Amino acid sequence: MTRRSLILASGNLHKVEEFKQLLAGCSFNVLSAEICGGMPEVDETGATFVENAFLKAEALRRLAPENAWVLADDSGLEVDALDGEPGVYSARYAGADASDTDNMAKLLKALGGVPLEARTARFKCALCVIDHKELVTNYEGSCEGRISTSVSGSGGFGYDPVFIPNGYQKSFAELGSAVKSKLSHRARAVQTFRFARRDGS
Ligand code: IMP
Repeated sequence: MTRRSLILASGNLHKVEEFKQLLAGCSFNVLSAEICGGMPEVDETGATFVENAFLKAEALRRLAPENAWVLADDSGLEVDALDGEPGVYSARYAGADASDTDNMAKLLKALGGVPLEARTARFKCALCVIDHKELVTNYEGSCEGRISTSVSGSGGFGYDPVFIPNGYQKSFAELGSAVKSKLSHRARAVQTFRFARRDGS
């Protein structure tokens, strides 16, 4: 029997790589948006991660083969001392074309003088899955931690070099993919999806 396709609605190669690892062994044939000609530009106008995930999934669904499923995520960092910023603006915190380095520099500056115990934060991930019957379902995951006072490590992407997950003394970028794939917001959201599908471990 041919396996149903699950197309990842993301142009972020780091995310695609993480999703492929997290979905390994599932019942789907997991594909990147390349098979639809690439991920289209999406205006992330939603006020929440869930809304933006839907916008991305719906944009790719229009380009996807009829019998395929589409999976999108929207994710970001919420910092308590900044009233939940950067939140849905995580990718463009330091401006529309900001790099990860720019965003982390702005974050560390905004948290200047805030003591370690008050630098609590979490990554959040909202998944939106649209199936072949256009049924939309959402799954969420989060990962609690704190923001370090400097950048460390070279793994991962985004804010990984400044995010220290609870229970660890090192950043996600230092801990590497083996640890991140167990506790990240994306890992937890994917686990929920796989549990709902009963095809995950
Ligand atoms: P999105 O692609 O619109 O969902 O933007 C998500 C942004 O949030 C990314 O560009 C990163 O800045 C940040 N982010 C989301 N997930 C992660 C992660 O796993 N590690 C580090 N940063 C992340």
